[in-house]
Amino acid sequence: MFHWDRGLFLTPAGLAVDVCRRQPRGFISHAHADHLGSHELALCTPATACLYRHRRGARRRVLELPYGKPLEFGPFQLTTYPAGHCLGSAMLLARQSSESGRSRTLLYTGDFKLQATATCVEAELPRADILIMESTFGRPKYCLPPRAETIARLIELVRSILAAEQTPVLHLYPLGKGQEITRLLTIAGIPVLQHPMTYAISEIYRQCGVDLGDVSQHDERTLIDGRVPPGHAVVTLPRGMRNFRLRGILRPVSIAITGWAIDPAAKYRYGVDHALPLSDHADYHQLMETAQRVGAKKIYCTHGPLEFVDHLREAGFNAFPVTGSVQTRLF
Ligand SMILES: [Zn+2]
Ligand SMILES: [Zn+2]
Repeated sequence: MFHWDRGLFLTPAGLAVDVCRRQPRGFISHAHADHLGSHELALCTPATACLYRHRRGARRRVLELPYGKPLEFGPFQLTTYPAGHCLGSAMLLARQSSESGRSRTLLYTGDFKLQATATCVEAELPRADILIMESTFGRPKYCLPPRAETIARLIELVRSILAAEQTPVLHLYPLGKGQEITRLLTIAGIPVLQHPMTYAISEIYRQCGVDLGDVSQHDERTLIDGRVPPGHAVVTLPRGMRNFRLRGILRPVSIAITGWAIDPAAKYRYGVDHALPLSDHADYHQLMETAQRVGAKKIYCTHGPLEFVDHLREAGFNAFPVTGSVQTRLF
């Protein structure tokens, strides 16, 4: 019924799920590059469709799956649920009815987190018979501090950098983290200049009804005498990403914001002055909570450490790993 081959396949429907290789029909959980394929027909939420076309071309064929609206697709009924990861991110619930009239359900989480954020709809977790979950932070040491606490630390840090007449430079992914942190800063009254690549995606957020406040593109027009105007924070790309450029920045103080910052050495690894622990992925507690709430008879774990499967088993769940290249029949 379902198999895994560097991504999930709903075999009887001929539907690939988050497979990056081109497919005749592919569901895209969200528009991050590691989940995105240029498919002949893509299935995704309307917001992901906007981001997909922005990234892969305006003429891409898409069948839109708005949250909570079931679609009959081959032998399945497909429904998307908010995944809380970035604009448009979705979990996929596939329901298959058997001849006896009994149905069984599979929930694929894609990348997800459970808390509400400033720029993303809060995740919903339907119950399912089979759960396929990402488990990026599947080690007990990855229990992140409360989000509100990290946000307060961030705002305090940015204010102190500005007070010292330096420029806060935040290195963030251009889809998701870039917009969320921008919104948190503008809510706190701190205007933001964004890297053009981040800004182009922020425009799509705006078109989808997500207002980011006082934000402009970081280019010649927004600089004053070639400099970032006082009082502004700069949101740019992670270090090492292409198109990385910083112009007109006086005395930069660099900040990374990532779940991996729970590790005290993270700021050296990222080559930044400060690293704060906040993530768009579920932390260890949330992963365990997800397993509990979905109530699945079988759980398959992807994108995370193998030891997470052991943690689930110790907690009484019937859990298995699915890894990159292994062909596995899940049913
Ligand atoms: Zn992602
Ligand atoms: Zn991912």
